[in-house]
Amino acid sequence: MLDAVSFDVTGSPARIVFGRGARGQTPDILRDLGITRALVLSTEAQKETADAFACTLGKSCLGVFAGAVMHTPVHATEAALEIVREQRVDGLVAFGGGSTIGLSKAIAYRTDLPQVALPTTYAGSEVTNILGQTADGAKTTLKSPRLIPEVVIYDAELTLSLPVGMSVTSGINAMAHAVEGLYARDRNPVSAMIAAEGCRAMIEALPRIAQAPADIAARERAFVGSWLCGTVLGQAGMALHHKLCHVLGGLYDLPHAETHTVILPHATAFNARAVPQLLVPVAEALGAQMPGAGLWDFAQALGAPHSLRDLGMPEDGIDRAADAAVAQPYWNPAPIGRDAIAALIRAAWAGQRPDA
Ligand code: NAD
Repeated sequence: MLDAVSFDVTGSPARIVFGRGARGQTPDILRDLGITRALVLSTEAQKETADAFACTLGKSCLGVFAGAVMHTPVHATEAALEIVREQRVDGLVAFGGGSTIGLSKAIAYRTDLPQVALPTTYAGSEVTNILGQTADGAKTTLKSPRLIPEVVIYDAELTLSLPVGMSVTSGINAMAHAVEGLYARDRNPVSAMIAAEGCRAMIEALPRIAQAPADIAARERAFVGSWLCGTVLGQAGMALHHKLCHVLGGLYDLPHAETHTVILPHATAFNARAVPQLLVPVAEALGAQMPGAGLWDFAQALGAPHSLRDLGMPEDGIDRAADAAVAQPYWNPAPIGRDAIAALIRAAWAGQRPDA
């Protein structure tokens, strides 16, 4: 049995408020930030819960904009910006997963408005200085300190409604940040510790959530994982894994978290052959001999998708994806050859278990 967890720590630069029911502190937090005209952001699917939450914020909240969508399309940001200007919004409250937090960041980037994020998935975007946005079908990524929410409220009760499938894939999406952080060129001793502990937290939490979705302590443990893994993404540069997911998602409109889930074992195995010692924490946390194969077994046991084919990628897209993945050079711990990348994508397409 895990004990209840509760703390309030001011990190650099975000303040993290963690605990069951912590969303109840939002009015005080808005007041501390001097926000009197907050706009709550959500997806259409979460509008009802976001509306109910907004009602708890009293006079300091103007209402809900439920136009957040995956991959932060610029047209959705512009629609929100119109409301922000018209209603003289002075603060943003992101109530949702990576898509909603992405919208909040996109608005903050353009306005410098303060943000309070209440994540409802485990993807980890709330603690990063990164924004991916799309315009005319192309996704671009930018980094800025302005993107980091001023306050993040981790209230695990908000994830009780997250279906097991999405809990697992968003959790593995977060783990991908930590795994790549372990071998990142700009890693540091602290980021490596955070990454290892982030992996451990997720590896402990996700099977428990899959078995008992109402296990609030397990969902809290997953949020610890989100925080840690997201923190690594904000500190260390990413490599092959994120590149592949970016390329595949963009070319074939594949779902974000599921694509990360399918690719992670393969990218990990690819790099484990070059820097096995750096990935030992992943294998150890999994209780596996090989980190890539161990991640594949882990995802498989949780019923997560394991082939790009099942996500809708056409087989004749493998070569095109490999070409795109090597078109521009980028750093990776293992050298990247076009044929080796095509073989990796083919194995991921077919759902094969990697052997490293
Ligand atoms: P999401 O935010 O797209 O949510 C997926 C679906 O689940 C949505 O329909 C949403 O309404 C629903 N949902 C979310 N929480 C729920 C809950 N508690 N109960 C019921 N339904 C719920 O999914 P995601 O995986 O969190 O985010 C993916 C997006 O986040 C992508 O656009 C990705 O690029 C971005 N992302 C960004 C970063 C970063 O650092 N910039 C990091 C990770 C992910």
